Amino acid sequence: MKFELSKEEEKKVREWEENHKCTERNKSCCGGEITYSFTPTSIGTAVDATCICGQTLAVREL
Ligand SMILES: [Zn+2]
Repeated sequence: MKFELSKEEEKKVREWEENHKCTERNKSCCGGEITYSFTPTSIGTAVDATCICGQTLAVREL
């Protein structure tokens, strides 16, 4: 199975990455690190993005 973000979803994540009050980003030399989690269900795939600071963005809600 292959999971991809749409252009709009990528944009949403990028904006959130820059705009959320990140407590960890300044400690990291290489910028924020985002981890994606894909949850396949019968009606589609839910996508969450989690920052290294622990905050989570619902990228795609079902
Ligand atoms: Zn963060």
